[in-house]
Amino acid sequence: METTPEKLEMFYEGKAKKLYSTPDPDLVIAYFKDDATAFNAKKRGTIEDKGVINNRMSELFFTLLERSGVKTHFVRRINDREMLCKRLQIVPVETVVRNLVAGSMAKRLGREEGEQLPRPVVEYYYKNDALDDPLILGEHAIAFGWATAEELKTIDRLALRVNEILGLFLDERGILLVDFKLEFGRYHGEILLGDEICPDTCRFWDKATRKKLDKDRFRRDLGDVEEAYQEMLRRVEK
Ligand code: UDP
Repeated sequence: METTPEKLEMFYEGKAKKLYSTPDPDLVIAYFKDDATAFNAKKRGTIEDKGVINNRMSELFFTLLERSGVKTHFVRRINDREMLCKRLQIVPVETVVRNLVAGSMAKRLGREEGEQLPRPVVEYYYKNDALDDPLILGEHAIAFGWATAEELKTIDRLALRVNEILGLFLDERGILLVDFKLEFGRYHGEILLGDEICPDTCRFWDKATRKKLDKDRFRRDLGDVEEAYQEMLRRVEK
C-alpha cells in the first residue's frame, strides 16, 4: 500500500468537489460530495451516495483511458470519496463531445433530442459562472489566451480519442454515450485530462430502452435519480 499524502488546506470548493492541497505541490486530493446542482446552480439538491459513485466511476474510466494511452490527472483512489490527483493548471474551457443531439444543442438549434449525428461534434464553452458558461469558438480561446492553438489541437485530439474509447466500452455494456464534458489542464508543460467522468458530466442512455441513466433525471425531475447512478456503476464495473 502506498502512503497517502496528508490533506492540508481546502483551496477550492466547487459544486460537486472540494480540492485539498498536500505537502507535495504536484498532488491534490479531490473529495467528491453528494451535492447536485443544475442550470448553473439555480437548482440545488443532493443525490445520495453520488460522491461515492462518481469517485469510483471516474477511477474506472481514468484507468481505462490511461491503459489506452490517454494521460489523465488520476493517480489513485484513496477511499470512498477521495481521489489523489496531479495538480493541474486548468484550461478555462469546457470541451463537450456529442454523438447524438441532446440538451443545449437540441434547444439552441431546434433539433429533436436523440437525433444521431453523422460524426462526433466537438464544442467549447468558456468556464465562467457569471456568464453561464457561454458556447465559444476555438478562436475566442486563442484570442483571449485561455489556450494556445497547439493546446486546442491536443484537446481536440484527446477529446475524440476519449469518445472512441468510452463509446466502445459503454456500447459493450448496453449504454449509448450521447454526449459528455471534459476539462483539461497543464502539468509540467503537458496537457492532461482532469476533472471527473461520471453521470454528472455525461449523458448515458440505455441502448435498448433509451432510459436516461445520468444527471438529466435530476435536472428534469424524472425520478429514480439514485437508482440511475447505481445502475450506471453496475454496468461499468462489469
Ligand atoms: N455538462 C457538464 N457541465 C456543464 C454543462 C454540461 O458536465 O456545466 C455536460 C452535460 O452533462 C452533458 C454535456 O456536457 O453531458 C452537454 O451538455 P449541454 O451543453 O447539452 O448542457 P445541458 O443541457 O446539460 O445544460
